[in-house]
Amino acid sequence: MFCPECGALMKPSEGRWICKRCGAEKERSESDQDKITSQKEEEKEMVVIEKEVSTQPKTKVRCPKCDHNEAYWRLEQTRAADEPETRIYRCTKCDHRWREY
Ligand SMILES: [Zn+2]
Ligand SMILES: [Zn+2]
Repeated sequence: MFCPECGALMKPSEGRWICKRCGAEKERSESDQDKITSQKEEEKEMVVIEKEVSTQPKTKVRCPKCDHNEAYWRLEQTRAADEPETRIYRCTKCDHRWREY
């Protein structure tokens, strides 16, 4: 924040900006506070999203055991790096597990 009167750098003090050179005062805008709080909110949301991903996404796929059409899935990395990952499915209804080759 720079002083609108003389252009010097202003110091924050008790909810306002004070110019050390000419003594001008300016209210600290609400938006300054908003930016700080909204950044913190975004960090929280990102943590929540990561948690949801780790609890496995669902997909529309037919269970070979009970014919239910929805299952959790995750990718399992095979040992060899040049081989594709395997999808592991788990039926949301009967808990049957199978994999897609
Ligand atoms: Zn000033
Ligand atoms: Zn099933």
